[in-house]
Amino acid sequence: MSVFLSKRYEGLTPYTPGEQPQDQQYVKLNTNESPFPPSPLAQRLARQAAGDLQLYSDPECRKLIPVAAEAMGVEEDQILFSNGSDEMLGYAFMAFCDEDTPAVFPDISYGFYTVLADVCRVPQKQIPLTEDFRIDPKDYFGAGGTVIIANPNAPTGIALSLGEIESIVKENPGSVVVIDEAYVDFGCESAVGLIDKYDNLLVVRTFSKSRSLAGGRLGFAMGNAKLIGDLNTIKYSLNPYNVNSMTMAAGIGAFLDREYFDMCRNKIIETRAYTKKALEDMGFECLDSKSNFIFAKHPMLDGEFLYRRCKDKGVLIRHFTQERIKDFNRITVGTKEQMDILLKTVKEIMEECR
Ligand code: PMP
Repeated sequence: MSVFLSKRYEGLTPYTPGEQPQDQQYVKLNTNESPFPPSPLAQRLARQAAGDLQLYSDPECRKLIPVAAEAMGVEEDQILFSNGSDEMLGYAFMAFCDEDTPAVFPDISYGFYTVLADVCRVPQKQIPLTEDFRIDPKDYFGAGGTVIIANPNAPTGIALSLGEIESIVKENPGSVVVIDEAYVDFGCESAVGLIDKYDNLLVVRTFSKSRSLAGGRLGFAMGNAKLIGDLNTIKYSLNPYNVNSMTMAAGIGAFLDREYFDMCRNKIIETRAYTKKALEDMGFECLDSKSNFIFAKHPMLDGEFLYRRCKDKGVLIRHFTQERIKDFNRITVGTKEQMDILLKTVKEIMEECR
């Protein structure tokens, strides 16, 4: 730390992204990326856009917005794009939380929420998940702050039903409820159909998972036009050209290539079921994941040990040190071939431990 760092940020613990090691080729199942490349159309449009990079990108995303609005069934003024959904979450914390409006979220959820609350210097209220790692909607009724819920939740993968999400939104009429739908395409219901009914609902999405564009950095939010207006105020105060032209073009391609999107996500859902069954056959307990990862623990294997031995053997999975979940590992669902390598590796480790 230099002597110049503002006192405001002394003691700030930044988010630790999943490892991106460059030392060797790993079977990379630790950051919930798609194992499939971006849609060929997305790639082609991005390459074309590269020829115009001397120009600033369009701060209003005027070519992307209509395509997105059509794909999502919302009005054009109900949608805003960002540089990954992390940026949008940051805008939401800045716009809708303050000293008197804490950020309210589960004790086990996406680790970035607590960092955003700290960097925005807003109080945070963490609500424990139930014993079986579920979100109890009632715990969020009258939350007294801005509610942030990942649905499905991460790293558990467990989803709330649309009715349960609606109950949280309904029971917090004076507060914004942010539903982070990073993994929604892998088997749970979106709340986007409720944005006309509730003026306090913001739905956040990413292209990083089901649309294979993690490196492109594209996220978006949908909500009523006034909420989107507030987020725009923050965006234009920080980074008006937040989405670059190549990513914008790739985003259009990813939306238009519906067939490719369906094929990729169906494969992930299929491979998730295959992997879960195989892990359970080996004695693992797997939570009921509706996402592109499986959160699993084994009664005879220490969570951190399994992570380390997998890494030694060239397979990266994600281990979290938080007390309640330290026995688990989060395993991204890759291709069937990748999952077969994972399963073979885990089997070897179990045999070594006999
Ligand atoms: N929300 C959740 C729940 C996530 O797991 C992630 C990915 N780490 C994000 C948001 C952010 O994704 P991105 O910034 O790549 O859009």
